[in-house]
Amino acid sequence: MTNIAFIALGSNMGDREEYLMSAIGYIHQLKGTVVEKISSIYETDPVGYTEQDQFLNMVIQISTDLTAFMLLGELQTIEETLNRKRVVKWGPRTLDLDILLFNHENIETEQLIVPHPRMHERAFVLIPLAELQNDLCIPTIEKPIYAIIEQLHDKEGVRIWKQKSGVDVFALLGN
Ligand code: AMP
Repeated sequence: MTNIAFIALGSNMGDREEYLMSAIGYIHQLKGTVVEKISSIYETDPVGYTEQDQFLNMVIQISTDLTAFMLLGELQTIEETLNRKRVVKWGPRTLDLDILLFNHENIETEQLIVPHPRMHERAFVLIPLAELQNDLCIPTIEKPIYAIIEQLHDKEGVRIWKQKSGVDVFALLGN
């Protein structure tokens, strides 16, 4: 069975764009997985721990035969492979990969919570996600994303950094 998942990517150390693009390349190579859509790249002010550099953030949509737990494991391996370093909780990191949504499922375990528990309050997640599907409803909130974004306060901290060109995702991935 093919599942649809949305994944948020973030980086604020080193060559940030290169980390994001490498991660997308690795995700596309996962078994039974296709990167279907990618958002533009946004530069965003850090939230929470603010004494750190600005992030690049984006969101992708994938289809995958992996379960949500298998996908989480694979994303953690990719984070390790791309040399994720993090000293402070919510502090700087080379790469952060979060599962935002997995089909329309609600998952609540120690390892994995989906929908991602803070996604509905984060402009740096919702603005790129809206680019992929503006009227998407987050399970448990049941409000379209555009309506949640209208009520967010920190939108000016999220600025477009590289507009997605007309080029499709497969051109980006080189196959
Ligand atoms: P972070 O510091 O944001 O990368 O959080 C990593 C931890 O969050 C890991 O221990 C994951 O098991 C856990 N986690 C829970 N829900 C999710 C999710 N939806 N996506 C990614 N990690 C998650």
